[in-house]
Amino acid sequence: MTEKVIPPLTGGCLCGGVRYRIDGPRRDVIVCHCENCRRTHGHQAAYTSVAQSDLELLVQETLDWYHDSSPDTWRGFCRRCGASLFWDARDGRGRMAVSAGTLDDSRELKTIGHVFVSEAGHYYAIDDGLPQFETGNGGALEDDGSS
Ligand SMILES: [Zn+2]
Ligand SMILES: [Zn+2]
Repeated sequence: MTEKVIPPLTGGCLCGGVRYRIDGPRRDVIVCHCENCRRTHGHQAAYTSVAQSDLELLVQETLDWYHDSSPDTWRGFCRRCGASLFWDARDGRGRMAVSAGTLDDSRELKTIGHVFVSEAGHYYAIDDGLPQFETGNGGALEDDGSS
């Protein structure tokens, strides 16, 4: 039995106050158009997803968490440069959404779909031909990159 070796991915915020390393598998990227993501990211938000146990915070000097009450989730951001890095549902699945734009090198990932398109901004088109979901994808896009 051979264990597949997955090279780590690293990333961080603009100022370097938050740096992280992902050691396990990462899901391909899902773009969220919900209003809350738009407000905090300034635009649609693109996330990969990883097991929380595979995410190691190397530097978290300026990491802070904003409690988003609708739904009940936590958004990890840099309080110095304002980067939006993490989205944590704390739903017991042990996953963490990581903003794909904060990865140092994202070439192994591709975008696989769009969620919450019913809340998309009116100033852009979603026309890449990928699957679109009015709200969540109900697991349709989640292979979680694991197992
Ligand atoms: Zn920063
Ligand atoms: Zn969202």
